[in-house]
Amino acid sequence: MKIAYPIEVYPSGTVALGDRISCDGFHRDYPVRVQTHVHDDHMDNFETSKGLQNLFMSEATRQLLVCEFDADLPYRDNVYPVRIGETQDLDGHKLTLLHSGHMLGSVQVAVETPLGMRLGYSGDFRWPLEQVIEVDALVVDSTYGSPDRKREYTLAEAEERFLTLVHNRIMRGPIHVKAHRGTLQRALSILSGQVNCPILGSARLCEEVQVYRNHGYTIGDICRINTEDGRWHVKSGRFIRLYGKGDGEPPIQLLRGSTITLSAYMSRQDDPVMEYSDCSFGVALSNHADFEGTLEYVRATKAKHVVTDNTRGHAVELAREIQHRLGISARPSSTQYSREWGLS
Ligand SMILES: [Zn+2]
Ligand SMILES: [Zn+2]
Repeated sequence: MKIAYPIEVYPSGTVALGDRISCDGFHRDYPVRVQTHVHDDHMDNFETSKGLQNLFMSEATRQLLVCEFDADLPYRDNVYPVRIGETQDLDGHKLTLLHSGHMLGSVQVAVETPLGMRLGYSGDFRWPLEQVIEVDALVVDSTYGSPDRKREYTLAEAEERFLTLVHNRIMRGPIHVKAHRGTLQRALSILSGQVNCPILGSARLCEEVQVYRNHGYTIGDICRINTEDGRWHVKSGRFIRLYGKGDGEPPIQLLRGSTITLSAYMSRQDDPVMEYSDCSFGVALSNHADFEGTLEYVRATKAKHVVTDNTRGHAVELAREIQHRLGISARPSSTQYSREWGLS
């Protein structure tokens, strides 16, 4: 007999696990929203959720959200920091969060319904992981869900290439580095103690970095760009400037120096560095599991049924590969494909 597992991803990106708990998006039918991490593609309608739902997240995610925009977040009584690995009972639904290794605060979500069904959402995750949720049915991130999204280098190698690139380029002038949150702080950890020029960032970035430090990241000093010191370094022409969320764009026309964009995008499987022009580079420095890692993750969860997230990545291909390679029933989340797959 085929069991209908109550898991779904709505077109907004909201992931539903059972009939009470949703993740990473707002849906009025669910009294609970779990926030897996702070990246924008998971923040749909956060303001609405704040007014209407109970919010659960790791303490680190809560602190990052406070830095970002929610001055009132610390004073709300519907925001609950959850200890990693501890189980909470929410009206008979048992909620557990485990680290997902994607960025500071990021989690996998496991829910056990009152009927004993174990449902889970990977969130964005890195592979390998020390602890994996064990579930009957899983919603899995599909960012690198296509077989050609295979990394032939390790993350450590990508990090080393980034550092080498910085060392080579700093001789020719300032370097502007742009990245998503999490990746930028990783870049900072890599650069800390390894470059002998000042690193500049916005006031907000400095605040964010402090949260990372509070959670054990070793990150050296960053100089605020809008201070006397900061302006002096800019004039000197020898600096690394970081651009996080809300910090605008690096200058397009550079008289001197280089731009490096750190992204999840892989243009080649065998080389993390992309050369866009003689002063503009990309480095694939992403904290997502690649295709093989994604399959290994699915296997490790012991899920019997998988929904691939069609709002973020290669869901159709991933569902097909999970069926073929792992023999696990799988379908992509969007209703657009439900008929083709004969499942709803
Ligand atoms: Zn993410
Ligand atoms: Zn994502």
